[in-house]
Amino acid sequence: MDNSYINTSNLKFWNLDSLLIHGRLSQMDKQSHLSSLKIINLNKTDFSADIIDEDENSYHTTLEHCSCSNFINEQLPCNHMYALASKLKIFKGQKERRSKNLIVDCSSKYSKDWFFVIQQANYPALDILLMPRKENNKTVMALTQGKLYNFHDGSIFYDTEKAYTLPWKEALKEINYSIQITETKPSVNINNFKYVDNCIIRHSSINYGDLTFKLYKVNASKTAEEYIGSYTCKQNEFVKFLKTGILNKNLDLNKRH
Ligand SMILES: [Zn+2]
Repeated sequence: MDNSYINTSNLKFWNLDSLLIHGRLSQMDKQSHLSSLKIINLNKTDFSADIIDEDENSYHTTLEHCSCSNFINEQLPCNHMYALASKLKIFKGQKERRSKNLIVDCSSKYSKDWFFVIQQANYPALDILLMPRKENNKTVMALTQGKLYNFHDGSIFYDTEKAYTLPWKEALKEINYSIQITETKPSVNINNFKYVDNCIIRHSSINYGDLTFKLYKVNASKTAEEYIGSYTCKQNEFVKFLKTGILNKNLDLNKRH
């Protein structure tokens, strides 16, 4: 890594002893969306620069100091300092991993391409969020896809949109399966900070929480739902189950009759 011209051991925010600072939640917030900051007048002697944000505000930033109010108030690295440190290759954050490729067809109120119907109300649980995106140099709000799936207790899913559009007695004739989530543990981002070759490196991964759901099938006379069983899986495995109807070799709704 071409950063050997900086002696980070003397820089209180960018040496081995600073790792705990960067792992604080409030600090990690400042480490995202750095690509929206423009760096000009970079001085490779005193490691200073002017940083322009999306609103065209300009800040004078060094590795130890910034003219913004966030730094003045907190005396901790601000997003401008993280942008400068990234540019100088003494800090390496996680790239923003959100994609514009959505896992569900979000063009209609009830998605029809999955085994179970997904509604707009389910988007946050599937980490489909309305976020600012850059398109043709303009910032627009658009749905983006992440992988931090977090379903909540009580959510119910049916295998036909008619469950939502018909009176219940009529709907029962159309439904085959339904599921109700009964217990969840949250999925969380795990962040590790390491100091390698003069550079602080952030590594993020997701620890998916457990999720328990009850499965029901409508009886042969199409008059009531019957309880089949309770199942536990990881939140990401549940997403696959909603999509395919397959949880594992013991539970494949495509094969059950
Ligand atoms: Zn700043």
